Amino acid sequence: MIKILIAASEIDPFAKTGGLADAMRSLPPALRRQGVEVALVMPKYRQIQAECEDLGEIQVPIEDTSMTGRLARTELPGDKVPVYLIDQEKLFHRNELYTEKGKDYPDNLERFTFFCRGVMEIIARNYFRPDVLHAHDWQAALLPIYIKTVYADHPVIGRIKSVFTIHNMAYQGVFPPFLYPVTGIGWEHFHVEALEFYNQLNLMKGAIVFADAVTTVSPTYAREIQTREYGCGLEGVLLKHQKKVTGVLNGVDYRVWSPEVDTEIAARYSMDTLEEGKKANQTALRKEFGLREPPVRAPLFGVISRLAHQKGLDLLAAVLPSLIRRGAQVVILGKGEPPLEETYRTLQKQFPESCGVTIAFDNRLAHQIEAGADIFLMPSLYEPCGMNQMYSLRYGTVPVVRATGGLVDTVTDVDEAGDGTGFVFEEPTPAALLEACERAIARFEDREAWLALARRGMRMDFSWDRSAQEYQRIYQSLMRMRG
Ligand code: ADP
Repeated sequence: MIKILIAASEIDPFAKTGGLADAMRSLPPALRRQGVEVALVMPKYRQIQAECEDLGEIQVPIEDTSMTGRLARTELPGDKVPVYLIDQEKLFHRNELYTEKGKDYPDNLERFTFFCRGVMEIIARNYFRPDVLHAHDWQAALLPIYIKTVYADHPVIGRIKSVFTIHNMAYQGVFPPFLYPVTGIGWEHFHVEALEFYNQLNLMKGAIVFADAVTTVSPTYAREIQTREYGCGLEGVLLKHQKKVTGVLNGVDYRVWSPEVDTEIAARYSMDTLEEGKKANQTALRKEFGLREPPVRAPLFGVISRLAHQKGLDLLAAVLPSLIRRGAQVVILGKGEPPLEETYRTLQKQFPESCGVTIAFDNRLAHQIEAGADIFLMPSLYEPCGMNQMYSLRYGTVPVVRATGGLVDTVTDVDEAGDGTGFVFEEPTPAALLEACERAIARFEDREAWLALARRGMRMDFSWDRSAQEYQRIYQSLMRMRG
Protein backbone atom coordinates (compact mmCIF):
# COMPACT_ATOMS: atom_id res chain seq x y z
CA MET A 1 0.00 0.00 0.00
CA ILE A 2 1.40 3.39 -0.98
CA LYS A 3 2.10 5.65 2.02
CA ILE A 4 1.62 9.39 1.90
CA LEU A 5 2.43 11.99 4.54
CA ILE A 6 0.59 15.27 3.99
CA ALA A 7 2.11 18.35 5.64
CA ALA A 8 0.22 21.63 5.91
CA SER A 9 -0.05 24.61 8.21
CA GLU A 10 -3.82 24.35 8.63
CA ILE A 11 -6.33 21.52 8.72
CA ASP A 12 -10.02 21.92 9.40
CA PRO A 13 -11.37 21.53 12.11
CA PHE A 14 -8.13 22.12 14.06
CA ALA A 15 -7.13 25.46 12.53
CA LYS A 16 -8.40 27.27 9.48
CA THR A 17 -7.92 30.57 7.69
CA GLY A 18 -9.00 29.47 4.21
CA GLY A 19 -9.55 26.82 1.58
CA LEU A 20 -6.28 25.03 2.39
CA ALA A 21 -7.79 23.80 5.66
CA ASP A 22 -10.89 22.48 3.89
CA ALA A 23 -8.75 20.59 1.39
CA MET A 24 -6.59 19.09 4.13
CA ARG A 25 -9.70 17.92 5.98
CA SER A 26 -11.18 16.13 3.00
CA LEU A 27 -8.43 14.88 0.70
CA PRO A 28 -6.95 12.37 3.21
CA PRO A 29 -10.17 10.38 3.82
CA ALA A 30 -10.79 10.36 0.05
CA LEU A 31 -7.28 8.94 -0.48
CA ARG A 32 -7.90 6.34 2.20
CA ARG A 33 -11.09 5.22 0.49
CA GLN A 34 -8.89 4.47 -2.51
CA GLY A 35 -6.52 2.30 -0.57
CA VAL A 36 -3.78 4.85 0.15
CA GLU A 37 -2.26 4.84 3.64
CA VAL A 38 -2.23 8.46 4.68
CA ALA A 39 -1.24 10.58 7.66
CA LEU A 40 -1.26 14.33 8.22
CA VAL A 41 1.05 16.67 10.06
CA MET A 42 0.56 20.29 11.17
CA PRO A 43 1.79 22.66 13.89
CA LYS A 44 0.10 22.39 17.26
CA TYR A 45 -1.35 25.87 17.66
CA ARG A 46 -2.77 26.98 20.97
CA GLN A 47 -6.37 26.78 19.72
CA ILE A 48 -6.12 23.03 19.04
CA GLN A 49 -8.19 21.44 21.79
CA ALA A 50 -8.32 17.87 20.44
CA GLU A 51 -7.31 15.04 22.71
CA CYS A 52 -3.74 14.10 21.82
CA GLU A 53 -1.31 11.33 22.57
CA ASP A 54 2.04 12.77 23.62
CA LEU A 55 4.94 11.27 21.66
CA GLY A 56 7.71 12.94 23.59
CA GLU A 57 10.31 15.60 23.15
CA ILE A 58 12.22 16.58 20.01
CA GLN A 59 15.33 18.69 19.60
CA VAL A 60 15.77 20.31 16.22
CA PRO A 61 18.54 22.50 14.86
CA ILE A 62 17.60 26.13 14.28
CA GLU A 63 20.49 28.23 13.01
CA ASP A 64 23.46 27.35 15.25
CA THR A 65 21.49 26.23 18.28
CA SER A 66 18.89 23.59 18.91
CA MET A 67 15.33 24.11 19.96
CA THR A 68 13.11 21.85 22.00
CA GLY A 69 9.52 20.92 21.16
CA ARG A 70 7.17 17.98 21.39
CA LEU A 71 5.42 15.58 19.05
CA ALA A 72 1.82 14.58 19.54
CA ARG A 73 -0.74 12.55 17.66
CA THR A 74 -4.50 12.76 17.24
CA GLU A 75 -7.00 11.80 14.52
CA LEU A 76 -9.22 13.57 12.03
CA PRO A 77 -12.62 13.52 13.76
CA GLY A 78 -14.82 10.84 12.23
CA ASP A 79 -12.08 9.47 9.99
CA LYS A 80 -9.33 7.33 11.32
CA VAL A 81 -6.59 9.39 9.67
CA PRO A 82 -3.66 10.02 12.05
CA VAL A 83 -2.73 13.66 12.53
CA TYR A 84 0.75 14.36 13.88
CA LEU A 85 1.25 17.67 15.65
CA ILE A 86 4.47 19.59 16.05
CA ASP A 87 4.37 21.54 19.28
CA GLN A 88 6.53 24.45 20.36
CA GLU A 89 4.87 26.79 22.77
CA LYS A 90 6.89 29.90 22.04
CA LEU A 91 6.41 29.54 18.28
CA PHE A 92 2.86 28.26 17.90
CA HIS A 93 0.80 29.34 20.91
CA ARG A 94 -0.37 32.69 19.52
CA ASN A 95 -3.59 34.51 18.76
CA GLU A 96 -3.47 33.88 15.01
CA LEU A 97 -1.75 31.49 12.61
CA TYR A 98 0.51 33.75 10.53
CA THR A 99 -0.48 37.39 10.80
CA GLU A 100 -1.77 39.68 13.51
CA LYS A 101 -3.24 43.16 12.99
CA GLY A 102 -2.24 43.07 9.34
CA LYS A 103 1.43 42.21 10.08
CA ASP A 104 3.17 38.86 9.58
CA TYR A 105 4.80 37.43 12.67
CA PRO A 106 8.46 38.46 12.34
CA ASP A 107 9.69 34.96 13.21
CA ASN A 108 7.58 33.12 10.62
CA LEU A 109 10.70 31.59 9.06
CA GLU A 110 11.79 30.19 12.38
CA ARG A 111 8.27 28.94 13.10
CA PHE A 112 7.87 27.01 9.88
CA THR A 113 11.47 25.82 9.83
CA PHE A 114 10.75 24.27 13.21
CA PHE A 115 7.60 22.74 11.79
CA CYS A 116 9.42 21.19 8.81
CA ARG A 117 12.26 19.92 10.99
CA GLY A 118 9.61 18.36 13.25
CA VAL A 119 8.06 16.59 10.23
CA MET A 120 11.46 15.07 9.48
CA GLU A 121 11.63 13.83 13.10
CA ILE A 122 8.34 11.98 12.63
CA ILE A 123 9.87 10.15 9.69
CA ALA A 124 13.32 9.65 11.22
CA ARG A 125 11.80 8.23 14.42
CA ASN A 126 9.68 5.87 12.36
CA TYR A 127 6.28 7.09 13.49
CA PHE A 128 5.29 7.28 9.84
CA ARG A 129 7.54 6.49 6.88
CA PRO A 130 5.96 7.76 3.69
CA ASP A 131 6.82 6.88 0.10
CA VAL A 132 5.74 10.38 -0.87
CA LEU A 133 5.78 13.54 1.22
CA HIS A 134 3.06 15.92 0.03
CA ALA A 135 3.79 19.49 1.16
CA HIS A 136 1.30 22.34 0.85
CA ASP A 137 2.10 26.03 0.44
CA TRP A 138 5.15 27.97 1.60
CA GLN A 139 4.82 26.94 5.24
CA ALA A 140 5.68 23.36 4.25
CA ALA A 141 7.89 24.29 1.29
CA LEU A 142 11.12 23.47 3.11
CA LEU A 143 10.20 19.77 3.03
CA PRO A 144 10.88 19.04 -0.66
CA ILE A 145 13.95 21.28 -0.38
CA TYR A 146 15.28 19.43 2.68
CA ILE A 147 14.87 16.03 1.01
CA LYS A 148 17.27 17.08 -1.75
CA THR A 149 19.69 19.08 0.42
CA VAL A 150 20.11 18.76 4.19
CA TYR A 151 18.59 15.24 4.34
CA ALA A 152 19.79 13.99 0.92
CA ASP A 153 22.10 11.42 2.49
CA HIS A 154 19.63 10.29 5.14
CA PRO A 155 19.00 6.60 4.39
CA VAL A 156 15.21 6.94 4.66
CA ILE A 157 14.39 10.59 4.05
CA GLY A 158 16.75 10.93 1.10
CA ARG A 159 14.70 8.34 -0.83
CA ILE A 160 11.30 9.95 -0.30
CA LYS A 161 9.59 11.51 -3.30
CA SER A 162 7.87 14.85 -2.89
CA VAL A 163 4.84 16.70 -4.21
CA PHE A 164 4.46 20.42 -3.60
CA THR A 165 0.99 21.93 -3.95
CA ILE A 166 0.47 25.65 -4.44
CA HIS A 167 -2.80 26.94 -3.01
CA ASN A 168 -1.97 30.58 -3.67
CA MET A 169 0.95 32.01 -5.65
CA ALA A 170 0.81 35.29 -3.78
CA TYR A 171 2.11 33.88 -0.51
CA GLN A 172 5.61 32.64 -1.27
CA GLY A 173 7.47 32.70 2.03
CA VAL A 174 9.99 35.42 1.18
CA PHE A 175 12.60 36.39 3.76
CA PRO A 176 15.73 38.56 3.85
CA PRO A 177 18.99 36.69 3.20
CA PHE A 178 20.35 37.30 6.70
CA LEU A 179 17.67 34.89 7.97
CA TYR A 180 18.74 32.13 5.56
CA PRO A 181 20.92 30.32 8.17
CA VAL A 182 17.75 29.62 10.21
CA THR A 183 16.91 26.91 7.64
CA GLY A 184 20.24 25.09 8.00
CA ILE A 185 20.57 24.79 4.22
CA GLY A 186 24.05 25.42 2.83
CA TRP A 187 24.85 28.67 1.00
CA GLU A 188 25.63 26.64 -2.14
CA HIS A 189 21.85 26.48 -2.68
CA PHE A 190 21.33 30.22 -2.33
CA HIS A 191 21.46 31.11 -6.02
CA VAL A 192 18.98 32.04 -8.75
CA GLU A 193 18.46 28.46 -9.94
CA ALA A 194 17.39 27.41 -6.45
CA LEU A 195 16.38 29.37 -3.36
CA GLU A 196 17.34 32.93 -4.21
CA PHE A 197 14.89 35.33 -5.74
CA TYR A 198 16.16 38.89 -6.24
CA ASN A 199 18.56 38.49 -3.35
CA GLN A 200 15.82 37.19 -1.03
CA LEU A 201 15.13 33.72 0.25
CA ASN A 202 12.01 32.42 -1.52
CA LEU A 203 10.70 29.15 -0.12
CA MET A 204 8.03 28.60 -2.74
CA LYS A 205 10.59 29.00 -5.49
CA GLY A 206 12.85 26.46 -3.78
CA ALA A 207 10.01 23.97 -3.52
CA ILE A 208 9.13 24.37 -7.20
CA VAL A 209 12.75 23.69 -8.08
CA PHE A 210 13.32 20.72 -5.75
CA ALA A 211 9.94 18.93 -5.59
CA ASP A 212 9.46 15.91 -7.84
CA ALA A 213 5.99 17.09 -8.80
CA VAL A 214 4.29 20.48 -8.44
CA THR A 215 0.55 20.87 -8.44
CA THR A 216 -1.88 23.67 -7.99
CA VAL A 217 -5.56 23.56 -7.15
CA SER A 218 -7.21 23.95 -10.55
CA PRO A 219 -6.22 23.31 -14.18
CA THR A 220 -6.90 26.93 -15.20
CA TYR A 221 -4.77 28.33 -12.36
CA ALA A 222 -1.97 25.90 -13.36
CA ARG A 223 -1.91 27.59 -16.77
CA GLU A 224 -2.40 31.11 -15.43
CA ILE A 225 0.55 31.01 -13.03
CA GLN A 226 2.86 30.38 -15.93
CA THR A 227 2.03 33.88 -17.20
CA ARG A 228 3.26 37.26 -16.06
CA GLU A 229 -0.18 38.41 -15.02
CA TYR A 230 -0.69 35.64 -12.46
CA GLY A 231 2.77 34.18 -11.76
CA CYS A 232 3.68 36.71 -9.03
CA GLY A 233 7.23 36.77 -10.38
CA LEU A 234 7.67 32.99 -10.41
CA GLU A 235 6.21 32.41 -13.89
CA GLY A 236 9.69 31.90 -15.33
CA VAL A 237 10.55 29.26 -12.73
CA LEU A 238 7.26 27.50 -13.34
CA LEU A 239 7.77 27.57 -17.10
CA LYS A 240 11.21 26.10 -16.67
CA HIS A 241 9.79 23.26 -14.58
CA GLN A 242 6.60 23.06 -16.65
CA LYS A 243 6.80 19.29 -17.16
CA LYS A 244 6.18 18.60 -13.51
CA VAL A 245 3.39 21.18 -13.04
CA THR A 246 -0.27 20.09 -13.13
CA GLY A 247 -3.61 21.36 -11.84
CA VAL A 248 -5.84 19.16 -9.68
CA LEU A 249 -9.15 20.73 -8.80
CA ASN A 250 -10.04 20.75 -5.11
CA GLY A 251 -13.20 18.93 -4.18
CA VAL A 252 -16.11 19.45 -1.84
CA ASP A 253 -16.75 17.45 1.28
CA TYR A 254 -20.46 16.86 0.80
CA ARG A 255 -20.68 15.34 4.29
CA VAL A 256 -20.09 18.88 5.58
CA TRP A 257 -21.37 21.08 2.77
CA SER A 258 -24.82 19.81 1.69
CA PRO A 259 -28.15 21.38 2.58
CA GLU A 260 -29.60 17.89 3.15
CA VAL A 261 -27.27 17.14 6.08
CA ASP A 262 -26.03 20.54 7.26
CA THR A 263 -26.44 20.82 11.02
CA GLU A 264 -25.63 24.55 11.14
CA ILE A 265 -28.59 25.86 9.14
CA ALA A 266 -32.13 26.85 10.11
CA ALA A 267 -33.83 24.33 7.80
CA ARG A 268 -32.42 21.43 5.84
CA TYR A 269 -33.55 21.06 2.26
CA SER A 270 -32.94 19.17 -0.96
CA MET A 271 -33.48 19.76 -4.63
CA ASP A 272 -37.16 18.88 -4.19
CA THR A 273 -37.68 21.24 -1.27
CA LEU A 274 -35.43 24.01 -2.56
CA GLU A 275 -38.05 26.76 -2.50
CA GLU A 276 -39.31 26.18 1.05
CA GLY A 277 -35.79 25.48 2.31
CA LYS A 278 -34.38 28.68 0.88
CA LYS A 279 -37.25 30.68 2.26
CA ALA A 280 -36.84 29.40 5.82
CA ASN A 281 -33.07 29.89 5.76
CA GLN A 282 -33.46 33.32 4.22
CA THR A 283 -35.82 34.52 6.91
CA ALA A 284 -33.36 33.32 9.56
CA LEU A 285 -30.45 34.96 7.76
CA ARG A 286 -32.21 38.33 7.44
CA LYS A 287 -32.97 38.20 11.13
CA GLU A 288 -29.35 37.33 11.95
CA PHE A 289 -28.12 40.38 10.01
CA GLY A 290 -30.98 42.65 11.07
CA LEU A 291 -32.20 43.16 7.49
CA ARG A 292 -35.78 44.09 6.71
CA GLU A 293 -38.14 41.59 5.03
CA PRO A 294 -38.59 43.07 1.55
CA PRO A 295 -42.18 43.85 0.50
CA VAL A 296 -41.79 41.91 -2.76
CA ARG A 297 -39.57 38.95 -3.68
CA ALA A 298 -36.05 40.37 -3.98
CA PRO A 299 -32.66 38.68 -4.35
CA LEU A 300 -30.35 38.26 -1.39
CA PHE A 301 -26.65 38.26 -2.33
CA GLY A 302 -24.09 36.56 -0.10
CA VAL A 303 -20.32 36.88 0.34
CA ILE A 304 -18.02 34.78 2.54
CA SER A 305 -14.43 35.75 2.09
CA ARG A 306 -11.09 36.71 3.43
CA LEU A 307 -11.18 40.48 3.07
CA ALA A 308 -8.18 40.66 0.77
CA HIS A 309 -7.50 42.65 -2.38
CA GLN A 310 -7.32 39.32 -4.24
CA LYS A 311 -11.02 38.73 -3.70
CA GLY A 312 -12.17 41.72 -5.79
CA LEU A 313 -14.07 43.22 -2.89
CA ASP A 314 -13.23 46.77 -3.95
CA LEU A 315 -15.25 46.04 -7.08
CA LEU A 316 -18.13 44.85 -4.98
CA ALA A 317 -17.96 47.89 -2.71
CA ALA A 318 -18.26 50.06 -5.82
CA VAL A 319 -21.39 48.34 -7.13
CA LEU A 320 -23.11 47.60 -3.84
CA PRO A 321 -25.15 50.83 -3.72
CA SER A 322 -26.44 50.08 -7.25
CA LEU A 323 -27.49 46.58 -6.23
CA ILE A 324 -29.33 47.96 -3.24
CA ARG A 325 -31.05 50.55 -5.43
CA ARG A 326 -32.25 47.62 -7.55
CA GLY A 327 -34.01 46.26 -4.45
CA ALA A 328 -31.41 43.61 -3.65
CA GLN A 329 -29.92 42.92 -0.24
CA VAL A 330 -26.35 41.83 0.47
CA VAL A 331 -24.82 39.98 3.41
CA ILE A 332 -21.08 39.87 3.87
CA LEU A 333 -19.04 37.71 6.22
CA GLY A 334 -15.34 38.41 6.18
CA LYS A 335 -12.20 39.26 8.01
CA GLY A 336 -8.87 40.55 6.85
CA GLU A 337 -7.25 43.73 5.58
CA PRO A 338 -8.21 46.62 7.88
CA PRO A 339 -9.09 49.12 5.08
CA LEU A 340 -11.52 46.64 3.51
CA GLU A 341 -13.05 45.90 6.89
CA GLU A 342 -13.60 49.64 7.28
CA THR A 343 -15.13 49.98 3.81
CA TYR A 344 -17.71 47.32 4.58
CA ARG A 345 -18.47 48.63 8.05
CA THR A 346 -19.21 51.98 6.43
CA LEU A 347 -21.48 50.43 3.79
CA GLN A 348 -23.38 48.61 6.51
CA LYS A 349 -23.96 51.88 8.36
CA GLN A 350 -25.06 53.52 5.14
CA PHE A 351 -27.60 50.78 4.27
CA PRO A 352 -28.51 49.14 7.59
CA GLU A 353 -31.69 47.51 6.28
CA SER A 354 -30.21 46.11 3.10
CA CYS A 355 -26.55 45.44 3.76
CA GLY A 356 -25.50 43.11 6.56
CA VAL A 357 -21.83 42.90 7.49
CA THR A 358 -20.12 40.65 10.01
CA ILE A 359 -16.41 41.15 10.43
CA ALA A 360 -15.38 37.78 11.83
CA PHE A 361 -14.38 34.27 10.97
CA ASP A 362 -17.53 32.32 11.72
CA ASN A 363 -18.02 28.86 10.27
CA ARG A 364 -21.64 28.54 11.39
CA LEU A 365 -22.60 31.81 9.76
CA ALA A 366 -20.78 30.74 6.59
CA HIS A 367 -23.09 27.72 6.35
CA GLN A 368 -26.12 29.92 7.01
CA ILE A 369 -25.17 32.32 4.24
CA GLU A 370 -24.75 29.43 1.78
CA ALA A 371 -28.20 28.19 2.72
CA GLY A 372 -29.97 31.54 2.90
CA ALA A 373 -28.60 33.57 0.00
CA ASP A 374 -30.01 33.42 -3.53
CA ILE A 375 -26.85 34.54 -5.27
CA PHE A 376 -23.22 34.14 -4.20
CA LEU A 377 -20.61 36.71 -5.22
CA MET A 378 -16.96 35.94 -5.99
CA PRO A 379 -15.54 38.80 -8.05
CA SER A 380 -11.96 37.58 -7.45
CA LEU A 381 -9.06 39.16 -9.30
CA TYR A 382 -7.49 35.72 -9.17
CA GLU A 383 -8.73 32.53 -7.57
CA PRO A 384 -6.54 29.42 -7.39
CA CYS A 385 -9.56 27.18 -6.88
CA GLY A 386 -12.14 28.77 -4.62
CA MET A 387 -14.39 26.61 -2.47
CA ASN A 388 -17.42 28.78 -1.89
CA GLN A 389 -18.63 28.77 -5.48
CA MET A 390 -18.72 24.96 -5.32
CA TYR A 391 -20.50 25.02 -1.96
CA SER A 392 -22.95 27.58 -3.37
CA LEU A 393 -23.81 25.36 -6.31
CA ARG A 394 -24.74 22.54 -3.94
CA TYR A 395 -26.96 24.89 -1.87
CA GLY A 396 -28.81 26.16 -4.93
CA THR A 397 -27.17 29.55 -4.42
CA VAL A 398 -26.32 30.74 -7.90
CA PRO A 399 -22.73 32.02 -8.18
CA VAL A 400 -21.65 35.24 -9.88
CA VAL A 401 -17.93 34.85 -10.51
CA ARG A 402 -15.08 36.40 -12.40
CA ALA A 403 -13.56 34.24 -15.16
CA THR A 404 -10.35 33.32 -13.40
CA GLY A 405 -8.66 30.20 -12.03
CA GLY A 406 -10.82 27.55 -10.45
CA LEU A 407 -13.92 29.68 -10.97
CA VAL A 408 -13.59 29.00 -14.72
CA ASP A 409 -13.29 25.28 -14.05
CA THR A 410 -16.38 25.05 -11.86
CA VAL A 411 -18.97 27.61 -13.03
CA THR A 412 -20.34 27.92 -16.55
CA ASP A 413 -22.03 31.08 -17.75
CA VAL A 414 -25.76 31.03 -18.39
CA ASP A 415 -26.08 31.34 -22.16
CA GLU A 416 -28.84 32.35 -24.56
CA ALA A 417 -30.32 28.86 -24.43
CA GLY A 418 -30.45 29.09 -20.65
CA ASP A 419 -27.80 26.45 -19.99
CA GLY A 420 -25.01 27.06 -17.48
CA THR A 421 -24.76 27.19 -13.71
CA GLY A 422 -23.96 30.82 -12.89
CA PHE A 423 -22.99 34.24 -14.17
CA VAL A 424 -19.42 34.76 -15.29
CA PHE A 425 -17.73 38.05 -16.14
CA GLU A 426 -14.31 38.72 -17.65
CA GLU A 427 -13.03 42.20 -16.92
CA PRO A 428 -12.06 43.01 -13.31
CA THR A 429 -14.13 46.20 -13.31
CA PRO A 430 -17.17 47.38 -11.36
CA ALA A 431 -19.08 47.76 -14.65
CA ALA A 432 -18.50 44.13 -15.65
CA LEU A 433 -19.44 42.89 -12.19
CA LEU A 434 -22.58 44.99 -12.16
CA GLU A 435 -23.56 43.73 -15.59
CA ALA A 436 -23.23 40.11 -14.39
CA CYS A 437 -25.26 40.90 -11.27
CA GLU A 438 -27.94 42.52 -13.39
CA ARG A 439 -28.14 39.44 -15.59
CA ALA A 440 -28.53 37.39 -12.41
CA ILE A 441 -31.27 39.68 -11.07
CA ALA A 442 -33.14 39.54 -14.39
CA ARG A 443 -33.03 35.74 -14.32
CA PHE A 444 -34.08 35.74 -10.65
CA GLU A 445 -37.25 37.55 -11.62
CA ASP A 446 -38.26 34.59 -13.79
CA ARG A 447 -39.01 32.18 -10.97
CA GLU A 448 -39.22 28.98 -13.00
CA ALA A 449 -36.03 29.69 -14.94
CA TRP A 450 -34.30 30.54 -11.67
CA LEU A 451 -35.29 27.30 -9.97
CA ALA A 452 -34.12 25.32 -12.99
CA LEU A 453 -30.79 27.16 -12.88
CA ALA A 454 -30.33 26.61 -9.15
CA ARG A 455 -31.21 22.92 -9.46
CA ARG A 456 -28.73 22.50 -12.32
CA GLY A 457 -26.04 23.74 -9.94
CA MET A 458 -27.20 21.41 -7.19
CA ARG A 459 -26.70 18.43 -9.51
CA MET A 460 -23.01 19.25 -10.14
CA ASP A 461 -20.59 16.86 -8.50
CA PHE A 462 -17.21 18.10 -7.28
CA SER A 463 -16.60 15.33 -4.78
CA TRP A 464 -13.07 14.67 -3.56
CA ASP A 465 -12.94 11.16 -4.99
CA ARG A 466 -12.07 12.40 -8.45
CA SER A 467 -9.34 14.74 -7.13
CA ALA A 468 -7.96 11.97 -4.92
CA GLN A 469 -7.69 9.72 -7.96
CA GLU A 470 -5.66 12.35 -9.77
CA TYR A 471 -3.30 12.77 -6.81
CA GLN A 472 -2.95 9.03 -6.59
CA ARG A 473 -1.90 8.91 -10.24
CA ILE A 474 0.77 11.51 -9.48
CA TYR A 475 2.02 9.60 -6.41
CA GLN A 476 2.20 6.41 -8.45
CA SER A 477 4.16 8.01 -11.26
CA LEU A 478 6.68 9.21 -8.65
CA MET A 479 6.91 5.70 -7.21
CA ARG A 480 7.79 4.42 -10.66
CA MET A 481 10.55 7.04 -10.84
CA ARG A 482 11.91 5.65 -7.59
CA GLY A 483 11.93 2.15 -9.05
P1 ADP B 1 -9.13 31.27 0.30
O1 ADP B 1 -8.46 29.98 0.67
O2 ADP B 1 -8.40 32.04 -0.75
O3 ADP B 1 -9.45 32.12 1.47
P2 ADP B 1 -11.33 29.59 -0.67
O4 ADP B 1 -12.61 29.96 -1.34
O5 ADP B 1 -10.48 28.57 -1.32
O6 ADP B 1 -10.54 30.95 -0.38
O7 ADP B 1 -11.69 29.02 0.78
C1 ADP B 1 -12.18 29.80 1.78
C2 ADP B 1 -12.73 28.91 2.88
O8 ADP B 1 -12.72 29.65 4.09
C3 ADP B 1 -14.16 28.49 2.64
O9 ADP B 1 -14.44 27.29 3.32
C4 ADP B 1 -14.92 29.65 3.29
O10 ADP B 1 -16.22 29.29 3.66
C5 ADP B 1 -14.07 29.93 4.49
N1 ADP B 1 -14.12 31.31 4.94
C6 ADP B 1 -13.51 32.39 4.41
N2 ADP B 1 -13.75 33.50 5.16
C7 ADP B 1 -14.54 33.09 6.18
C8 ADP B 1 -15.13 33.76 7.29
N3 ADP B 1 -14.97 35.06 7.49
N4 ADP B 1 -15.85 33.03 8.15
C9 ADP B 1 -16.03 31.70 7.96
N5 ADP B 1 -15.52 31.01 6.93
C10 ADP B 1 -14.77 31.69 6.05
